[in-house]
Amino acid sequence: MTVRTRIAPSPTGAPHIGTAYIALFNRAFAKHHGGQFILRIEDTDQVRSTSESETAIFDALRWLGLDWDEGPDVGGNYGPYRQSERTDIYREHAAKLVASEHAYPCFCTADRLVAVRREQELNQQRIGYDGHCAGLDPAEAARRVAAGEPHVIRLRTPDTGICKIADQFRGEIEIEWETVDDQILMKGDGFPTYHLANVVDDHLMEITHVIRGEEWISSAPKHLLLYEAFGWQAPVLAHLPLLRNPDKSKLSKRKNPTGILYYRQAGFLPKAILNYLGLMAYRPEGDLEIFDFATMVSSFDFNRVSLGGPIFDVQKLRALNGHYIRELTDTDLLESLKSWLLHDATLLDVVRMSQPRLEQLADFVPMIAYLFADGVPLDPVDIDKAGKESGKAAEWIQFVQWEFERLQRWQADDIRACFERVAEQEDVKLKIFLGVFFRAFSGRAVALPLFDSLVWLGRDMALRRLQYAQEALREAGVGLSGKALKRLEKSYRERYVEEGGQDG
Ligand code: GLU
Repeated sequence: MTVRTRIAPSPTGAPHIGTAYIALFNRAFAKHHGGQFILRIEDTDQVRSTSESETAIFDALRWLGLDWDEGPDVGGNYGPYRQSERTDIYREHAAKLVASEHAYPCFCTADRLVAVRREQELNQQRIGYDGHCAGLDPAEAARRVAAGEPHVIRLRTPDTGICKIADQFRGEIEIEWETVDDQILMKGDGFPTYHLANVVDDHLMEITHVIRGEEWISSAPKHLLLYEAFGWQAPVLAHLPLLRNPDKSKLSKRKNPTGILYYRQAGFLPKAILNYLGLMAYRPEGDLEIFDFATMVSSFDFNRVSLGGPIFDVQKLRALNGHYIRELTDTDLLESLKSWLLHDATLLDVVRMSQPRLEQLADFVPMIAYLFADGVPLDPVDIDKAGKESGKAAEWIQFVQWEFERLQRWQADDIRACFERVAEQEDVKLKIFLGVFFRAFSGRAVALPLFDSLVWLGRDMALRRLQYAQEALREAGVGLSGKALKRLEKSYRERYVEEGGQDG
């Protein structure tokens, strides 16, 4: 048997450090066995998936050296590797499940589902589908489907008994069937949900081992049921522990930078990142902490994987990165600096931005320094003052953080429109508004053109700078308290997301 593993990211945002972590383990395991590592794009969420995000995932994983043997951009014998190009396959498989009565059409309206949920909440019952359509006569259901009645397809799950999941790392996990919902497999728009597409693809792509994050354990019963319904052998399941913030909560962008591209822009070395991500759940031997990918491959053994909640601490990564930098020869370090950001293509952009403002060549380096930094020295009192009314700067920055995360494309026009939108919503003159952001990004009241600088810095670094600014404001006593943040989030949802926001 050839070992085949995969990573199956959804292209719905900035490539996440957690994706690299999972990819690392899948790739190391496959390579240890001389097998293949596959990249599959799970873009069944048509609204949130973007090609920008897909490209960024390719870039980020390649930069880390986590290349794949098969995937949407490199091809392979099991394609297409993008789920949006496989919808006919899922429809066919859903139809098979309905024919064998492992799944059924459900005609419940959104109103009915809301009412059911309300009732369950009121009676403090488990929230989930109540099985209303599960008992429909199949012939009758087929007639309604043929007549064009809107419907979804649901998986028929048992009401009693226990699902036993054999997990490579965790042994046997038991989940009561009672807690497993009759999952939607095909949505009303004819697109599959993650569960159906994932199982069908893992089978058709002959994936032998599914190594993924522990947040997917609760999906395993549905997946195992699907394998059984199709009469297929399920792959080996292995759930890695979730990465955590230093306070042990699940790794989140609120508390830590989670975008891989932030780490590239901030000058972390791929080797150091892979080593650190490896350390999160793996030791090649004893207490060995410094190891490269090749060592991970040659020594790879499921028994060496540890499950204790791994803490992803940027400060520790920084220290490890420093170790790798010191190991380089001076000429290699120079090469690393060049290939990082000190090469012609990136410098030319910066030269263009700075030219109108230069009086001496010696102005150049100080003027552009903030573009090559991780954080810059900030004066929180000055930032707060720039917001006129104290406390406003922190609020505006927060709105922009949320809007940046939702922007579909990261280009100067989109960034400008984003600032204009928030300034208008907050009823403040754009010039005053931008004054806060010049200071937050560059540490100065005047800097290179803001929108172009932000394109240059990239979205992940831009967000990181705003995070630094929030931290500085908080430390100076003019930032957002936890309570204020909650209030603001509500107001943001109401005013930006639900009404006229770009998500519609
Ligand atoms: N599309 C899922 C994700 O975004 C894949 C999960 C899995 O590996 O099954 O992570």
